[in-house]
Amino acid sequence: MEREMSKELLEDWLLHVKDIAEIGKVADYIPALASQDPRHLAVGIHRVSGQTVYAGKADHLFTLQSVSKVIALALALLDNGEERVFSHVGMEPSGDPFHSIVKLETSKPSKPLNPMINAGALAVTDLIQGNTPDEKVGRILSFIHDLTSDKTIHFNQQVAESEFQSAFLNRSLCYFMKQHGVINGEVEDVLDAYTKQCSIEMNIKQLARLGAVFANDGYDLETLRPIIPRNLARICKSFMVTCGMYDASGEFAIKIGIPAKSGVSGAIMCSVKHYGGIAVFGPALDEKGNSVAGLKLLEYITKQGDLSIY
Ligand code: GLU
Repeated sequence: MEREMSKELLEDWLLHVKDIAEIGKVADYIPALASQDPRHLAVGIHRVSGQTVYAGKADHLFTLQSVSKVIALALALLDNGEERVFSHVGMEPSGDPFHSIVKLETSKPSKPLNPMINAGALAVTDLIQGNTPDEKVGRILSFIHDLTSDKTIHFNQQVAESEFQSAFLNRSLCYFMKQHGVINGEVEDVLDAYTKQCSIEMNIKQLARLGAVFANDGYDLETLRPIIPRNLARICKSFMVTCGMYDASGEFAIKIGIPAKSGVSGAIMCSVKHYGGIAVFGPALDEKGNSVAGLKLLEYITKQGDLSIY
């Protein structure tokens, strides 16, 4: 039985998870992320009906990081069609950490297992139409403006530069894939576009709304115009279920049970069909890279609303 989620209830849960957040660790392999304050917590729900409820630091901006992989996948599918995209990237969970290189060498033919791990996401960004990295990023941003009806959304230059300068592992993944013909663009160009894409900034309200469009099968929430064709929105949500929470996606399916995508900034975007978008933010992460406070909040929310899709 679904029960209403009030602001007071969300605020109450935020108080509960504050101490839990202390046990996590803010990502620091991207130097600009290391300065995030682990006490900055936020939660937002945007129902497909248009109803919204937010709690915590609802206007605080954070970068999407891997949450952007869902949007980039939707755009790459629109640009290229399923056949071309899935000739470059697979559909199976990897069971390995998001930046792992190991399966690239052992999979035959050598292509990333799915678009939610870094190798797959880099291959997807390479497929987005645009003659220059900035053109690709401009198209991703316009797509997000369209999805959120909000043209103020941009990327954080400082975070993008910080990642670009320290992305040695992602460079290695790109060189490996370039050798095997998985990516065609220049490695530095792919990284330039990818790091800017990951640095797109939003607050919890904007992220919950974005999740709601996927929950609404890709239709605009107000006009019901199809922004993402229904079958492509379905593909994106399926990847969120099978690979969205890194190598904790199985446990997440059991404990929480909704399509979700996590990013190392501490953001998680969820999309529950017919219900809406749920977004949580808390920068302290567990060892798999998921927001500690965010996971707990989602556990409370999904239990209260009886939202598991299983
Ligand atoms: N930009 C980050 C990276 O590629 C995203 C990782 C993540 O959020 O999982 O390392």
